[in-house]
Amino acid sequence: MTESATSHIKGIAILGATGSIGQSTLEVIALHPQKYKVIALSAYSNVELLLQQCLRFQPEYAVMVDKKSAQQLEKRLAEEGEYTIHVLSGAKSLNDMAALEQVDYVMAAIVGAAGLASTLKAAEKGKRILLANKESLVMSGALLMDAVDKGGAELLPIDSEHNAIFQCMPELWKNRDEQLGIEKILLTASGGPFWEYSLEQLKYVTPEQACKHPNWNMGRKISVDSATMMNKGLEVIEASWLFSMPAEHIEVVVHPQSIIHSMVSYSDGSVLAQLGNPDMRTPIAHALAWPERTRSGVDALDIFAIGKLTFQAADLQRFPCLRLAYDALRSGKTAPTILNAANEVAVAAFLQQQLAFQDIAVVIDFVLSELNLQDANTLDAVIAADKAARFLAQQKISTLH
Ligand code: NAD
Ligand code: MG
Repeated sequence: MTESATSHIKGIAILGATGSIGQSTLEVIALHPQKYKVIALSAYSNVELLLQQCLRFQPEYAVMVDKKSAQQLEKRLAEEGEYTIHVLSGAKSLNDMAALEQVDYVMAAIVGAAGLASTLKAAEKGKRILLANKESLVMSGALLMDAVDKGGAELLPIDSEHNAIFQCMPELWKNRDEQLGIEKILLTASGGPFWEYSLEQLKYVTPEQACKHPNWNMGRKISVDSATMMNKGLEVIEASWLFSMPAEHIEVVVHPQSIIHSMVSYSDGSVLAQLGNPDMRTPIAHALAWPERTRSGVDALDIFAIGKLTFQAADLQRFPCLRLAYDALRSGKTAPTILNAANEVAVAAFLQQQLAFQDIAVVIDFVLSELNLQDANTLDAVIAADKAARFLAQQKISTLH
């Protein structure tokens, strides 16, 4: 029997469809119309791109968080003679999309804390979550993992490193049996665009330079996070939640070629790695098809052309954000929530040229040292910590500007 005759088509909601991950997801889906059907697409305010995506993929629903943009989209769809797509607006509609009966898989590709509520909803509803939105796990790891367990959801990491780790883990790793012999996660980092820069050079870097990543083409927020190495810090916390690993068993390895996407080290001396060209369509296709495999459109890896792979330790002096993230993970409670919120505010200020690059870490450090930590086991506690951290970060930025 053919595959299409045996398996039913999976309905997909792509939250953050107009972003870098959202667009890559649609490219993979376009290769497999017999396997996946787009049910819902969402964007914040990019009307033109969401319109094009709607015309091409014919979802049942299109959500624009911004109300005016939603009105424009509805008008533009009508002009195109397209009346069957329901256009919704507002952040709450994202949760409704994550909960739809006909949605099997939710691609969580919104950037930042704005992705939390819909990711939690997908978990509660027992969906397969394709998790790109690492911030939701960083800010409320306990809550999200708990919702996944209770809802019977599947959480598949899209972040290339975590997807690699997932692939290198033994099949039964969820049982946390010591006999599995997992010693350490080796989380690879490209080092970002400023890896070779001195402390002096880092003083003057601009948003444009920070957003020019050597190996990956990504949204602006994660590009800045890569440049400060906060992205790796958030990923250490993400890995800790996903794979139940304490901070001391997660080691960052700078690997500028971005060919090995991470490794798992075992007690018998084996180290398993996942390799591939740096292209997010690979982890996206992996998570869509898991436990099977499917084409992603990514070229086969030419190891002869690459020739050489190199590894170095991370430098916490030039990249203090990584140290702040490790500290927050060790402190636990609301520390990662505070770290994430202060980082979002500081990165936005840097992108608007209201904060110097190196002051991103200064702001986060300040906010973490000022706020008292609370237990992070209720949504109210997480939201309160997030709000307090944003307020304090903004205040600190105004004194530095
Ligand atoms: P992006 O900026 O390119 O896209 C973000 C998407 O979220 C857009 O569709 C935008 O409309 C939507 N959005 C923005 N603000 C919103 C809000 N307040 N409410 C609702 N929707 C909103 O970002 P990206 O690079 O695609 O990254 C998305 C997520 O995936 C991030 O959490 C990032 O850390 C993670 N990620 C990205 C990559 C990558 O290669 N781009 C790799 C690993 C992980
Ligand atoms: Mg990553």
